[in-house]
Amino acid sequence: MHGLMQDWPLVCSRIIDYAGRQFPAREVVDRSIEGPIRRTNYGQIRIRALKVAQGLAREGFKPGDRIGTLAWNSSRHLEAWYGIMGMGGVYHTLNPRLFPDQIAWIMNHAEDAALFADITFMPIVEKVAPLVKSLRKVIVLTDAAHMPETKLDNVVSYEEWLGGLDGDYTWYDSAEADASGMCYTSGTTGDPKGVVYSHRSNVLHALIAAQVDALGLGSREVVLPVVPMFHANAWSIAHSAPMVGSKLVMPGARMDGEAIYELLDTEKVTLSAAVPTVWLMLLQYLEETGKKLPHLRKVVIGGSACPRSMTQKFRDNYDVDVIHAWGMTEMSPLGSLGSLKPQMADLTGDALLDLKEKQGYAPFGVEMKITDDDNRELTWDGKTFGRLKVRGPAVAKAYYGGAGTDQFDDEGWFDTGDVAHIDADGYMQITDRAKDVIKSGGEWISTIDLENLAVGHPDVAEAAVIGVVHPKWDERPLLVIVRKPGREPSKEELLAYMEGKVAKWWMPDDVVFVEEIPHTATGKIQKITLREQFKDYRFPTA
Ligand code: ADP
Repeated sequence: MHGLMQDWPLVCSRIIDYAGRQFPAREVVDRSIEGPIRRTNYGQIRIRALKVAQGLAREGFKPGDRIGTLAWNSSRHLEAWYGIMGMGGVYHTLNPRLFPDQIAWIMNHAEDAALFADITFMPIVEKVAPLVKSLRKVIVLTDAAHMPETKLDNVVSYEEWLGGLDGDYTWYDSAEADASGMCYTSGTTGDPKGVVYSHRSNVLHALIAAQVDALGLGSREVVLPVVPMFHANAWSIAHSAPMVGSKLVMPGARMDGEAIYELLDTEKVTLSAAVPTVWLMLLQYLEETGKKLPHLRKVVIGGSACPRSMTQKFRDNYDVDVIHAWGMTEMSPLGSLGSLKPQMADLTGDALLDLKEKQGYAPFGVEMKITDDDNRELTWDGKTFGRLKVRGPAVAKAYYGGAGTDQFDDEGWFDTGDVAHIDADGYMQITDRAKDVIKSGGEWISTIDLENLAVGHPDVAEAAVIGVVHPKWDERPLLVIVRKPGREPSKEELLAYMEGKVAKWWMPDDVVFVEEIPHTATGKIQKITLREQFKDYRFPTA
């Protein structure tokens, strides 16, 4: 027997239609790329997205065409997204922190037909556009007055282009299984791999993300996604904020402590999301200036492990709750969030920090398990760690063009490449990337645990741990430290600080000091480069 309810395809145009109808005046505020703060609202964004769709369709772009975006978080970027999806196209966010050659490789792989780009990225576009054969048009997200000089053909300013359109357009009738967006993983091993979102996965993921115990969005919230739209859909905020009518504050090109503070303060932001490095800059700025955060209630921190000291500072000094989250481009991206279940509501002090150090539990729509190398499922005891596997309606089932098939099994599980344990309450903690975990005498040592511990030392700016070959133990941990300016902690002081806080056999065999630790384009420590840098290093004791 079939249900007798309506077919109402879960397509992304419905999100912006809803926002335009129910929350037309709800503001979207940008730090514009040209400089000044700019204000618009969901009503305007919807109308301009219709114009984008109309313009693309009029110029012969077809449903299914991939349309690149090389842009910071802004209302124009949002309009472009909804316009692209609304004409049946596939937004393809490009990470401007990659090298131009990598961007060109990714655009060619996806066969991008057009590109929306910020003025700041024109030097990249100049290099990349001639290398991408499929590219027919570049739309620069600015007005005629700010249009940079360019030698490229078929380049137009966004505002001029929109000026010729009236928005009298009906959204393309996409099926919910049709592709809506694309994002490539950064490809720290091998070539980047394309993740292809569908309308259905984006809509379902936004519903999941908005929930109280997930991001906790709502119409009374003011949300600042520092996490870029090109970093896995701004963790769904670009879909979930309009879906529930949250005010959006877009940081544009500036993510330094002062710039973020200014937006948090003047726009009375209640909720924000970013990787730990952004929060490090903000906390440093707050410490230097003595400023406070009276409006901010909650920050969602993920992308890499959130150090315990960060959670503590936010809570003790600024009364801000940290929600530690984990996810992946392949998961749209949210996979787990560290909201408190009722049995944890009364936790305080170290017990609370212990819990907040974990990446949280999976929301409805994400199934999780941990397995050993033979795919045997492991228990949820908070200690036994293994490969973390996931499935759900917003988890990839394949990569574009069929790459990486070994990460997907016949039962629909996706192997995340992360190593984790899960406790009896369902809280998961990432202990490593499978390729970074240190194998010492047949046992595994978590580099993330050691890093979290080391950055808690007051003189440490950043810490990384890598495995270095050892004649007896195969591999042993080497701690790599960037000191805070003007501080000179010694190796002995750092080791003494860590002593007793981890198992003895986990203690690093040596500590080295560097000026800088290399990072990937999404702000993660680049362990491959670091291992390469220390490939000739030998432990003094070995
Ligand atoms: P990229 O490789 O392009 O940076 P993602 O942003 O999808 O792609 O990275 C996903 C990976 O980031 C995860 O598999 C995990 O290793 C790491 N990660 C994400 N969030 C966390 C977190 N809270 N703690 C530790 N690692 C995290």
